[in-house]
Amino acid sequence: MSMQIFQNTEIAFKPRSDADLRKARLLFRIMASPLLVRAMGLMAGIALRLRIPVRWLVKPTVFKLFCGGETLAEVQGVVDKLAFHKVRSVADFAAENRESEEEINSVISEIISSMDFAKANRVVPFSVFKPTAIAPPGALEETGSSSANPAAAEKFRENFMTLCRAARDRGIPVMVDAEECHYQHVIDDLCTEMMELYNKERPVIFNTLQMYRHDRVEFLKEALSRARKKKYYIGFKLVRGAYMEQERERARKLGYPSPIHPDKESTDRAFNDAVTLCLENIDITSLFAGTHNEESLMQMMEQMKAADIRNDDPRIYSSQLYGMSDHISFNMAAHNYNVAKYLPYGPVHYLIPYLVRRAEENRSVSGQSGRELHFIKLEVKRRKTIYKTRKS
Ligand SMILES: Cc1cc2nc3c(=O)[nH]c(=O)nc-3n(C[C@H](O)[C@H](O)[C@H](O)COP(=O)(O)OP(=O)(O)OC[C@H]3O[C@@H](n4cnc5c(N)ncnc54)[C@H](O)[C@@H]3O)c2cc1C
Repeated sequence: MSMQIFQNTEIAFKPRSDADLRKARLLFRIMASPLLVRAMGLMAGIALRLRIPVRWLVKPTVFKLFCGGETLAEVQGVVDKLAFHKVRSVADFAAENRESEEEINSVISEIISSMDFAKANRVVPFSVFKPTAIAPPGALEETGSSSANPAAAEKFRENFMTLCRAARDRGIPVMVDAEECHYQHVIDDLCTEMMELYNKERPVIFNTLQMYRHDRVEFLKEALSRARKKKYYIGFKLVRGAYMEQERERARKLGYPSPIHPDKESTDRAFNDAVTLCLENIDITSLFAGTHNEESLMQMMEQMKAADIRNDDPRIYSSQLYGMSDHISFNMAAHNYNVAKYLPYGPVHYLIPYLVRRAEENRSVSGQSGRELHFIKLEVKRRKTIYKTRKS
């Protein structure tokens, strides 16, 4: 097996029309410009604060590129299109930092609807939620210190348990997203408690490990040993981590050692070590590799082969964000690996912070925009050659 597996652009972009491809090429070109991305981020912030309507501009452009739709009914169309090419979906209601009790309750009810949606769609194998979307203000701030708000923390725990119970009742695994380090231990503790409760027969609760943190391999080893001792299954979404700059900045400002690996190589090594550990313990582990990194996925596929694990073993998934790395998703799916695209959805103004992060990631992670553009350009060129040959 070689990196060639990712190179087939015909498979990668089959669902996209010529016009879609050209639009994606333009958007990735814009995102490759740090100045433009910074300006767009600032403008999005101002528009949100002043409630300036931006839906007309955002929905047909970046929203369409990176999001499944505003409602589950809209998401259904994208899910069906992906399923036609053997790619599954995870419908991710992308609300963040809701404030009032009313708003939080409506987020909880939408996440439960997304679980019902997964139950009704064989090709939507997981559900997901973001802890900050169900946390009342103060619940996750500096937890453990006296500034935490105990009533808010209790309400957060209640909301968290409601969602885990809803997932268990529907038989739909739920992934808990990871966010910033300084409150992640609260989420880890709750995930561990819920895994112990609901993962006795199969993994229902999945925690997320951000492998840019230098303590995560150790955390995974401890989780494995606890699960073996107490006899339950564990599920982990492995990612590298999306908040590197904020984490480093916070550590520098508050004067504590950065929780993040010192360089990209150490993060890559930790991610790959975690994949290896999960595969070595696959009898009790389910692994959801959320990454756009070809080397890591290559290593995972080689290790699966060496361990005689089938490509479509239901305990192993890889996942990429909708609108990104289609060359990985569609080509892996064509080779029978389980692939599920993360499909964020929700009202356009809810998705703005997510879209700004995507644009920044494409700017700050060296090469991501370049990779996307490279494959899009190859496919545009391939199609042009075919049309020319047909004409002549
Ligand atoms: C399906 C899916 C779900 C996700 N869910 C979450 C989530 O719940 N929580 C979350 O935080 N993120 C999440 N992410 C985003 C993820 O953490 C990464 O930001 C993103 O996927 C880029 O990493 P990569 O492995 O795809 O690619 P790569 O391009 O190989 O890696 C880029 C990543 O490497 C790390 N890195 C880069 N430079 C350095 C450096 N100098 N030192 C140390 N580390 C460095 C950073 O984490 C950076 O994002 C998710 C991603 C996917 C695909």
